[in-house]
Amino acid sequence: MDKYLFIDRDGTIINEPEDFQIDSFEKLQLEPYVISSLKALARAGYKLIMVSNQDGLGTPSYPYETFKGPHDLLLAILASEGIKFDDILICPHFPKDNCECRKPKLGLVRELLTSNAIDFEHSYMIGDRDTDVEFAHNLNITPIKYDRSNMNWPMIKDLILTKPRVSHVERNTKETQISLTVDLDHSGESLISTGIGFFDHMLEQIAIHAQISIKLKVVGDLYVDDHHTIEDVGIALGTAIKEALGDKRGIGRFGFVLAMDEVIAHIYGLPMEDGVEVALDISGRPYAEFKCDAAFMRENVGGMTTEMVPHFFRSLAYALGLTMHISVSEGNTHHQVEAIFKGFGRAMRQALHKEGYELPSSKGVL
Ligand SMILES: [Mg+2]
Ligand SMILES: [Zn+2]
Repeated sequence: MDKYLFIDRDGTIINEPEDFQIDSFEKLQLEPYVISSLKALARAGYKLIMVSNQDGLGTPSYPYETFKGPHDLLLAILASEGIKFDDILICPHFPKDNCECRKPKLGLVRELLTSNAIDFEHSYMIGDRDTDVEFAHNLNITPIKYDRSNMNWPMIKDLILTKPRVSHVERNTKETQISLTVDLDHSGESLISTGIGFFDHMLEQIAIHAQISIKLKVVGDLYVDDHHTIEDVGIALGTAIKEALGDKRGIGRFGFVLAMDEVIAHIYGLPMEDGVEVALDISGRPYAEFKCDAAFMRENVGGMTTEMVPHFFRSLAYALGLTMHISVSEGNTHHQVEAIFKGFGRAMRQALHKEGYELPSSKGVL
């Protein structure tokens, strides 16, 4: 089975004129970035099928000869960039003809359907009209409604080619065995088991407040102490988030936060050029500054040694490539630690949030 892209022509690949007929070379205008986007999609292994309704094609109102010139030129332009259609399917009828091949009906793709060639789960119909969307539903594939301003070709390309922000890390040493899955776009139930109850609770705070899902199972050398387990979870979590972020396009990159009960946990950061203080930055440049205005009053909270709190965040920051400053005010130790984890989660939520497709860096890399 193959992944298919069924693509409408007029209003999607080329501009649709007011009289709906591209019957002269003057009327042939490609939609923005259609060539580069289709090229990337074709390279990614999608088979392309053009599916078009051409009302009354071959009748006196729309002679075939007037259609053929611009159509062939379009195909030649696309082919010059390696974009070739496996098939070009055209319904030449009027709506009143009530034919079986006019979109959204499936007459045009009947043959392909019976050949069992379509990977329905990974195939799409791209078109500018509701009838294209209906066609997709009838074919049981995913519709993408083309719109020059809201769903343009680069967006369609990214939508289809961007991978889910999920990653899995297996990390096994003599000290710890870690199995970890993170999903940055689904905040479903997290399953966390490190053998240290309070640490589990803290990691849950990160998941909840960052709105991510963490599935984590750790078997660590807790008979020694909590050091290796907490450190290695920090490394694994940083690694997993980094992998899940992929090319980092569209992410918020920065995050800030504070406040819990009497404790204020500032997670603040680098002063930027314009004087804004930033909390945390997925910069690719690891740096973790940890400041406790008043040291933790207790050495231990719920089976977790408090000196491991900064160590956890440093391990995570270095594995992820995170620039981070954390400071926490005086107060109840449990509250201090919890505020730090919650605050970190909140800041990460902003930094991980994905919107659009731009890389949030003027350097072009992150
Ligand atoms: Mg159209
Ligand atoms: Zn037809």
